[in-house]
Amino acid sequence: MSRPHVLVIPYPAQGHVMPLMELSHNMVDRGFKITFVNTESIHKRVVAAMSKNSDYEDFINMVAIPDGVETEEERNDLGKLSNTMIKVMPGHFEKLIKKINESKDGDDKIACVIADQTLGWALEVAEKLSIQRAVFWSSSAVLLALTLHIPRLIEDGIINTEGIPLTNQMIHLSTTMPAMKTGHFVWACFGDSDLQKTIFKLMFDNTPSTKLANYIICNSFYELEPSAFNLVPNLKPIGPLLASSRLAHFWPEDLTCLSWLDQQPAKSVIYVALGSFTVLDKRQFDELALGLELCGQRFLWVVRPDLTNDGTDSYPDGFETRVCSRGRMVGWAPQREVLAHPSVACFLTHCGWNSTLEAISVGVPLLCWPYFADQNLNKEYICEIWKIGLGLKPDENGLISRDEFKTKVVGLLGNEEIKTSAMELKEIAMKNVSSGGASFKNFEDFIEEIK
Ligand code: UDP
Repeated sequence: MSRPHVLVIPYPAQGHVMPLMELSHNMVDRGFKITFVNTESIHKRVVAAMSKNSDYEDFINMVAIPDGVETEEERNDLGKLSNTMIKVMPGHFEKLIKKINESKDGDDKIACVIADQTLGWALEVAEKLSIQRAVFWSSSAVLLALTLHIPRLIEDGIINTEGIPLTNQMIHLSTTMPAMKTGHFVWACFGDSDLQKTIFKLMFDNTPSTKLANYIICNSFYELEPSAFNLVPNLKPIGPLLASSRLAHFWPEDLTCLSWLDQQPAKSVIYVALGSFTVLDKRQFDELALGLELCGQRFLWVVRPDLTNDGTDSYPDGFETRVCSRGRMVGWAPQREVLAHPSVACFLTHCGWNSTLEAISVGVPLLCWPYFADQNLNKEYICEIWKIGLGLKPDENGLISRDEFKTKVVGLLGNEEIKTSAMELKEIAMKNVSSGGASFKNFEDFIEEIK
C-alpha cells in the first residue's frame, strides 16, 4: 500500500527544524512518506553535518528552496531574513507542491502540509491548492496563548501596537494562569528595539493564517501547562517528542562524548549546552570555564564554533590542562542521547523549549541561564511552577560569576525536592506518549484524520 505523503516546512532555525524532523520520524514510523523542505542554506548545513546515514532517508525526502537572501551575513539579520522569506518563498513553495502533484501518479500527491506557525504563507499556499493544513507550534502553549492574546493586550493598554510594554505589571491571561512579567514577553527579550518590533510583527502577522489550519499541534503535554491549553482549546499537544534525528543537526555531532560518558560514574556529569543561538562575550565565557573548574565536578560542555562573540574559543590560561581528567568540550553534542545517559546529573541550559522538553522527558534537573526570546518565560515555569530547576543570578554588571556557578551547581545537586519533582514530571511526560496517553491519542487522531 502506498504511504500518504506529507510536506513539512520548518522555520530555518535549529530549534524549529529539530522538532519537525522528530515529528517526521514519528510519522514515518506510522506509515507516512515525508517531503521535508528546508531553505537552501539550512539544507546545505544539515547535509554537511550528517555524521552517518539515517534509517529514515528512504521515507524522508529532503528538498530545498531559496530564502531570497544573498549572504550569510544578511541571513543573520532576522528582520531582513523574515521579510525576504515572505516575498520569495511562497512562489517556490507553490511551484514545489505543483511539481510533486503533477509529476507523479495520484498516490504520491501531497495529503497535508505541516508548517511552522511562523510561516503563515505556507498555509495560505496550501489552502489555495486545497490541501489539508496543520500548524506546528515549536514553543510552549503559554507562548501561543500569549501570541493569540496580542490584540487584547493592545486593547487593555498593556503593550502598544509595536509590542512595547507600557507597564511593568504582572499580567494574567486567565484567572488560572500563572502571572507573567511584561518584561518576559518574547519579543521584549530581543535586546535591540528594531528587532523587538520585527519579532512582534512576525508573531502578530501570523496569527490570522494560523486560523487557516485544520489542526494546531505542539511539543508539550496537558499537565505541563493546563491553563494555556484551556485558553487555546484547539491546540493539541503531542509531546514530548522523543525521536532522535540525524537529519536535522546544523553542526556535526561529536558522538565520541557518548563513550566518554560511559566511563563516568552514574549521575556525576554536569551537561552544559546553550542551544544554537546563545552568544557569550569573552569575559562571560571565561567565567563559565572557571566556574566549571571551581565546581570540581565532571562536565561535558558544548562549545559551538560560534559560541563567543569574538569568534574564538580560547580558554583561560591552563584551563584545558587543569580540567582534562574530568572535563570534556565538544563542538556539538548528540543532546538527546547525552541527556538520557545515566552519567548525567544535571543540565546547565539556556532554557530553549526543545532543550527544556528533552530534559523533562528524562527527568534531569536544570540549572537555568536564559539568554533571550521565550527563554525567560520557560525559566519561570522551570523554577517557579514545575520546580525542576534553579536559576543563575547575574551580578550587578550582568555577569554570572564563577562563584555563582559553583553555588548553584552544589545547591542543585544537593536538592532532593527538585530531583524528585523532575522524576515525577518525567513520569507524567512518559505516560502522555505511551499507548492511551493524551499526547499519544492526539497524535493518533491527527494522523488518522490526514490518512
Ligand atoms: N542540540 C543538540 N546538540 C547540542 C546542542 C543542542 O542536538 O550540542 C539540540 C537540542 O537537543 C535541541 C536544539 O538543538 O533540540 C536546540 O533547541 P532549543 O529550543 O533548546 O534552543 P534554540 O537553539 O532554539 O535556542
